[in-house]
Amino acid sequence: MPELPEVEVTRLSFAERIAGARILSARLGKPLRWPLGIDPQVLAGRCVKAVRRRGKYLLVDLDEGLLLLHLGMSGALSFGSHRTPAGVHDHFDLDTDRGLLRLHDPRRFGAVVYASSEADPLARKLLGGLGVEPLSDGFELNAFHQGLRQRRAPIKQVLLAGDLVVGVGNIYASEALFRAGIRPTVAACRLSKPRAERLRVAIRDVLARALQVGGSTLRDFSNAQGQSGYFQLEMLVYDRAGQPCRQCGTPIRQIRQGQRSTFYCPACQKP
Ligand SMILES: [Zn+2]
Repeated sequence: MPELPEVEVTRLSFAERIAGARILSARLGKPLRWPLGIDPQVLAGRCVKAVRRRGKYLLVDLDEGLLLLHLGMSGALSFGSHRTPAGVHDHFDLDTDRGLLRLHDPRRFGAVVYASSEADPLARKLLGGLGVEPLSDGFELNAFHQGLRQRRAPIKQVLLAGDLVVGVGNIYASEALFRAGIRPTVAACRLSKPRAERLRVAIRDVLARALQVGGSTLRDFSNAQGQSGYFQLEMLVYDRAGQPCRQCGTPIRQIRQGQRSTFYCPACQKP
């Protein structure tokens, strides 16, 4: 599943090139998670102003309205001047005078949704509940600790929920909690301010590192159809059940939390 760093690198791969483009046509393939909500022909003639990201959504601002794109479980966007015929898993094309933006999504959990503005009820429904951006200045200790104190769920669940801080997915949550020395099962409200600070710093470090690794693959990424895997971040706990902790040698444990696998070191990560 593409996570925040993958979505941001996708954005960086085409945002500058598509800015200012005029839409020639739009094409829908098989149904995605949500309908586009507009006749695709209506988009012809409109201009792309910019591409922003909010959480795992890409916001393609048009001179009238915007498109909200989500990559779902298996989606990948490509942008280029090669206008190859759409394949069976290509479910959205935005053809412009600068190139073709194409969503390739075999599992079709992704979506492209039109909204007249960010104030549109649909856009508010999708974006309204999102927490602060973890790499922004807005992700600061006091608000983060205050938010944690109001949540009784295990800290890992609170991170995944995304309404306090957005875009910290399963892998990055496990890795950040290890780096912060925090057991994933600890109730969020029980974290002291110093531990919240260690976690905040760890979240930023893990995501920034993934972004850096992903950014280095950017040249290949512009036509990276199907490249929806994770950047090769060195995993310290994720997917390492039974293997020795890289810090202390204790076997890494795997548990289930809300249908998701969690990995942690029982010695390094304190309850
Ligand atoms: Zn350890």
